[in-house]
Amino acid sequence: MRIAVIGAGVVGVATAYLLAREGHEVTLIDGACEPGRGASAGNAAQLSWAYADAMASPALLRHLPTIIGGRDPAFRVRWRLDPDFLLWGLRFLANTPGWRWRGNTDAILRLAGESREEMTKLLAEVDIDFDYRVAGKLHLYPDEASLVAARPGVERKRQLGFEQSVLSMPETLAVEPALRNYQGEIAGAVYTPGDAMGDAAAFCRQLTRHMVDHLGVVTCFNRLVTGFEQRQGKLRALRFADREPLGIERAVVTAGPLIHGLMADLPEAAGIQPVRGYSLTVARCADTPLVSLTDVKRKLAFVAIGDRFRVAGLADIERRGAGFDAGRFDVLHAAARSVLPGCFDDRREFMRWSGERPMTPSSRPMIGPSRNLAGLYINVGHGMLGWTLALGSARRIAGFLD
Ligand SMILES: Cc1cc2nc3c(=O)[nH]c(=O)nc-3n(C[C@H](O)[C@H](O)[C@H](O)COP(=O)(O)OP(=O)(O)OC[C@H]3O[C@@H](n4cnc5c(N)ncnc54)[C@H](O)[C@@H]3O)c2cc1C
Repeated sequence: MRIAVIGAGVVGVATAYLLAREGHEVTLIDGACEPGRGASAGNAAQLSWAYADAMASPALLRHLPTIIGGRDPAFRVRWRLDPDFLLWGLRFLANTPGWRWRGNTDAILRLAGESREEMTKLLAEVDIDFDYRVAGKLHLYPDEASLVAARPGVERKRQLGFEQSVLSMPETLAVEPALRNYQGEIAGAVYTPGDAMGDAAAFCRQLTRHMVDHLGVVTCFNRLVTGFEQRQGKLRALRFADREPLGIERAVVTAGPLIHGLMADLPEAAGIQPVRGYSLTVARCADTPLVSLTDVKRKLAFVAIGDRFRVAGLADIERRGAGFDAGRFDVLHAAARSVLPGCFDDRREFMRWSGERPMTPSSRPMIGPSRNLAGLYINVGHGMLGWTLALGSARRIAGFLD
């Protein structure tokens, strides 16, 4: 079957790969000049197979007054009188009760488990280098109370087959000795030894090269899709701003946070809210932690990728199309320097990056046929976890196209 995949971020590249592996004729299209330039370019690189918790939660609801009052530098919400935004906000709130959060988290964990299986398969099939490591992950908790509150979640993950344990401070230091230089408050950690990491942008570039060389995938970069032509409710062609339409009867939209550009033909796009984040990458130094770290209090992720070390964080809910705010890099830098001063002191050179996470109100991605056009499929809305969920989502969308 001839299939176009629109968007060559980590979700689109994974989708193209699974479809091409099953023998479909795939054309991978992106408005950017190469794969992996969108939300996937500078993310925190964590493959969080076991820590795939939904964002809307009772804890976040309790924290909401602090966020709305602007007293947590990790979050920023710019309210606006836009019906899509208000509806998204209400649906987000409706997902915060405990039973909803557990249902959403379990569903995401199942998808993460499928991703982990597909990653194992891919690594056996394909020879690509994206600094993949099963490095394990430590979620650092600031005090005894928050560590105790994390225990039921750990138990639940165990029941679902993920290896996770609660560590005291000495046990945490035994897993990652470089934490002795960590200036943040840590009472202990939740340790997930099986979590992995890898450079998502390198994955996109290298897997695309592999698909072109070995699986006959055709790529079209610098080509922005502007809409769809249809006949009797069936997809007939993709429209572009600057060239003739491409006739095709099957397409998967993997446009990430930019899906709103296709909203006229794809009403589902209204359910995606971009949540902006930031990262800083420095050269690795002698004392860089090698286990990936998440500072639960500051909501920062630290990860060593090859010879680099990256901090990522911040969650800004703003109007679609709003650009990045250079001042937010200073907020991230100050937070990173306060806990790992040696790695992030002012004399070091940083690579700054900002991108938008495509969030649904439930944190569960939309994977399946589009509502109003036969032949068109959607694989978007992976939010905080697109790198982690990409291969599992690709497997599921490929199931719809068989
Ligand atoms: C700071 C930060 C840290 C993160 N850390 C992690 C992490 O550690 N682990 C994790 O799992 N996830 C993480 N994420 C989330 C993850 O990066 C995203 O969920 C994921 O990158 C989304 O991938 P995507 O392919 O859907 O979107 P994108 O990577 O944005 O790809 C979409 C592509 O579609 C193209 N496109 C859009 N519209 C069109 C069009 N009309 N025509 C043609 N092309 C189009 C774009 O150019 C883009 O290349 C993080 C995100 C941020 C911002």
